[in-house]
Amino acid sequence: MSIMSREDIMTRITSLLAATTLAATLFAGVAQADYPERTITMVVPFAAGGPTDTVARLVAESMSKDLGQQVIVENVGGAGGTLGAGRVASADADGYTVLLHHIGMATSATLYRKLAYDTLNAFDYVGLVTEVPMTIVARKDLEPTDLKGLVDYAKANKDTVTVANAGIGAASHLCGMLFMSAIETPLVTVPYKGTGPAMTDLLGGQVDIMCDQTTNTTKQIQGGTIKAFAVTSPARLDIFPDLPTAVEGGLPGFEVGIWHGVYTPKGTPPEAIAKLESSLQKALKDQNVVARFAELGTKPSSEADATPAALKAKLEGEIARWKPIIEKAGQYAD
Ligand code: ASP
Repeated sequence: MSIMSREDIMTRITSLLAATTLAATLFAGVAQADYPERTITMVVPFAAGGPTDTVARLVAESMSKDLGQQVIVENVGGAGGTLGAGRVASADADGYTVLLHHIGMATSATLYRKLAYDTLNAFDYVGLVTEVPMTIVARKDLEPTDLKGLVDYAKANKDTVTVANAGIGAASHLCGMLFMSAIETPLVTVPYKGTGPAMTDLLGGQVDIMCDQTTNTTKQIQGGTIKAFAVTSPARLDIFPDLPTAVEGGLPGFEVGIWHGVYTPKGTPPEAIAKLESSLQKALKDQNVVARFAELGTKPSSEADATPAALKAKLEGEIARWKPIIEKAGQYAD
């Protein structure tokens, strides 16, 4: 048996290492070329049956067809969406866990003094999905019949009127805060894990008022099972031609739209992100998605917006936009 010199051993180790690295790289390449090979989990950071869930399920169903693998929705509600976002931030960055979240991703970055993740550094971006108008609604038997009447009623009954929301940082919380600030009257808020369960209580008369997205309120408004006072979009919506905007109803500057995006944990392979991006773009052109979005008062983001760069710019811009507003309001969550 020949004895190898130290140099020989070093040369062998070096080439072995090189071969291993090459194999690993090739393997990763092949693995990503085959992506996705199994079910993808889309985390919705709110309860089932609510507006974020509705948008996610429509998009996930369409993406499943395109990707050839199931995209299943998992609801991780609580703490205004920050629990679900935290779950995705700490998930494996392999392309099999994605997050569909809304504007709360930006507002919670300032609203929460302690977040389990660093919003701008914990995620990769896939693209924007949609921007949804909100509606100011109430239980069916609440006395007022128009927005002005609602404002007077809320002011006169400020210690007993209850406003439902999906926790601090949720869109419903944001809109409720805007409402209270517009009428200069703090009201009693009731937090839920999502506005799906909040809607159940509004229908049952256990809570009085809510400001929530059309993706959760349209069916009930059209069915007359809740009362609607205004939409928060700059113009009236085709689906509710008789419903005034909040500005028309007497609340100057009261406009808010809730944008949604898809994220993955930081470090997700670019090949996986590229597939998710192209699949999201196809889903947003899927006639079923387009039609359902229209019935729910919204429309899909454009192809240019359904991109990582557009979502990154949106999130950064919105964090900067909301930071001073939240700091001025001085309402934080721990
Ligand atoms: N998106 C809703 C909100 O922020 C909550 C939900 O989806 O259930 O209020």
